[in-house]
Parts: sequence; C-alpha cells; structure tokens
Amino acid sequence: KITPEEELTRKTVVVLGSGWGAHALMKVANCNKLRIIVVSPSNHFVFTPMLASAATGTVEYRSMTEAVRSANGMIEEYIEGKAVGVDIGKKRVTVRLNSLLDQYGETEPPEIELEYDHLVVAVGCKVDVKGVPGATNSLRLKSCDDARKLRTAIGECFEYASRPDVSGADREEERTRRSTFLIVGGGPTGVELAGELYDLAEDITRPHKGSYPRLRNNVKVVLCHSGSALVPQFEQPLQEEALKSLRRKGVK
Ligand SMILES: Cc1cc2nc3c(=O)[nH]c(=O)nc-3n(C[C@H](O)[C@H](O)[C@H](O)COP(=O)(O)OP(=O)(O)OC[C@H]3O[C@@H](n4cnc5c(N)ncnc54)[C@H](O)[C@@H]3O)c2cc1C
Repeated sequence: KITPEEELTRKTVVVLGSGWGAHALMKVANCNKLRIIVVSPSNHFVFTPMLASAATGTVEYRSMTEAVRSANGMIEEYIEGKAVGVDIGKKRVTVRLNSLLDQYGETEPPEIELEYDHLVVAVGCKVDVKGVPGATNSLRLKSCDDARKLRTAIGECFEYASRPDVSGADREEERTRRSTFLIVGGGPTGVELAGELYDLAEDITRPHKGSYPRLRNNVKVVLCHSGSALVPQFEQPLQEEALKSLRRKGVK
C-alpha cells in the first residue's frame, strides 16, 4: 500500500523495455518510493535461454514468459509502445503506441509524451545480419514471435520434403535439399538451436515411431560460423566441448 505522504514524494521512473534488464528492475523496485512506468512494444518478458526449445516444440511459450503487468503488482503503468525520442533537458520521452492496424500501414500510430524523473533505457539490441548477404531473408530467434515462426517453418519443411511430388531419380537428393537446415552464427543461440533441431530431427524420423521415418537419411543440420571457435565468448574448454558435442550428434 502506498501512503499519501509517499505518493507526494515518489519519483517517476520510466523504464524502456521489458527484457532481462527491465524485468530484473521491475521485480525488485520499491514502488513505495518509485512510480514505475514501463514502456515496451512487448507486454511480456521472455526467458530467452528457452527460445531454441520453443522453436523446436519442447517448451511451451507460457512456461518461458511473464506478463509485465504481473511481474510486479505495484507498477504504476505499462504502456505498449516504442520510445522514439528522448528530450533529456526536459526529461521527456516520446512514445509511439502500438496499433493493431500497424501491419496494414492504414493508420498513423499515435504518439504520447511522458515526463520522468529518472529514465532507464533497457531496449536491448537488434539482430545484425548485414555481414551475411542473403541472411536478411532468414528467420530470427530473439522473441516468442520469432520462435513461433521458426517452429511453423520447421514443420512445413518436413511436410515439403515428404510431398508426393518429390519423385523420380533425384528424389532422395530433393528430399535432402528440402530438409536441410542452415543456421547462421555459432554463438550460443546458433549452437543451442543446432543441437535442439538435430534432436528434434532424430526424434521425428525414428523408424516406426517418428512421424517422418522416410526422411531419416535426409535431414541435415548445418551450422555456419565465421570464426575459428564456436561460442567465442566462452572459455576454450567449453568451445571445444560445444564443437565435439555437435559433431557427435551429427551436426555439420
Ligand atoms: C535465443 C537466445 C538465448 C539466450 N540465452 C542466454 C543464456 O543462456 N544466458 C545469457 O546470459 N544470455 C542469453 N541470451 C542473451 C540475453 O537474452 C540478452 O543478453 C538479454 O536479453 C539482454 O537483455 P536486455 O535487457 O539488454 O535486452 P532484451 O532482453 O533484448 O530486452 C529489450 C527489450 O526492449 C524492448 N524494446 C526494444 N526497442 C524498444 C523501444 N524503442 N522502446 C521501448 N522498448 C523497446 C524489447 O521489446 C524488449 O522487451 C540469449 C539470447 C537469445 C536471443
């Protein structure tokens, strides 16, 4: 409960983002002293280490997300939108509100101004595909939405490779082409996804038990990495173990 005295002295903190940084702050913030306003295009926090499992269907989305509004019941306000400008002098942030019609480009998204005493910028970073020509057309793995798209696409690839029109002398070659997955980047995300995807392929192509036994010898998971060692941010023994473990599984 917030007393009238506290209400008079509370500082307004605008938090931009609902990812790891913002979520950690929301969880421990003392709302008797701080009026927390969260601004993010995403109304939930995502436990990113589970995204690869979500993309391959071993984890459900609800077990890896937490709604901003329930992360801390004393948060003053959550606003679904993006910060598009900050006036540090006037202590104001401009927020472009999400609109259900955004994707059709039919409306000019409304903008509002928020005043703050303190601003927390926890907007994360973007996937960088500039160095890899063609990767702009690839699927990403950074949000639940990405995982959902990837999950659907993976399933569709297995169906595409199983279609009856894949026939003739080059049938096996064509099935392999349709069920070869290329992952760009051997950081933790790429390595985890390669492992998860391979396990999924192993499982669903099991003779007599899997849904796609005829693709047993066709599915390939290829991890493409520009550096000399996988997961370069980790120590050498872990890098070597990551490579060994993927090779043991059969990831190329
Ligand atoms: C698949 C995957 C697995 C990972 N596994 C691990 C792991 O096992 N261990 C580990 O330590 N790290 C892991 N990471 C990295 C970890 O998730 C990031 O380091 C962490 O998310 C960074 O936290 P952040 O708060 O800076 O940004 P994020 O968590 O990315 O959050 C950014 C937030 O800002 C919001 N936002 C974006 N633009 C705006 C804007 N203009 N205005 C308002 N809000 C905005 C976004 O919607 C999002 O809610 C993983 C990452 C991925 C993608």
